[in-house]
Amino acid sequence: MRSNRRTGTKPEVRLRSALHGMGLRFRKDYPIRTAARLVRPDVVFTRARVAVFVDGCFWHACSSHGTKPKSNTWYWGPKLERNVERDREVDAALSADGWDVVRVWEHEVPTEAATRIRSLLVARSS
Ligand SMILES: [Zn+2]
Repeated sequence: MRSNRRTGTKPEVRLRSALHGMGLRFRKDYPIRTAARLVRPDVVFTRARVAVFVDGCFWHACSSHGTKPKSNTWYWGPKLERNVERDREVDAALSADGWDVVRVWEHEVPTEAATRIRSLLVARSS
């Protein structure tokens, strides 16, 4: 099952256009085959080996907005926990292969997130 809509969601579009606005070039929907698994980040900087995910507050259990649904907790609890676990596994798989991972929350200001990413790119290229 696909827990996060991968393309075309608003937070991703806003982040991509903020990155574009800074003149940064990246790939979207670029699959990364790590030793452990195939990963498809929302934004990929192939040369710098930086992978960016935009995480929805609900699906990825953001501490500010990721309140657990009150009904069907038997269903949602494990499901959301599993999502968070999978995020950590993906992060580990990528960093084991020499990638840096940036996770941007859906609630973050896109230009601020883009600035954070740009700093990382600068740091990685020096
Ligand atoms: Zn949030």
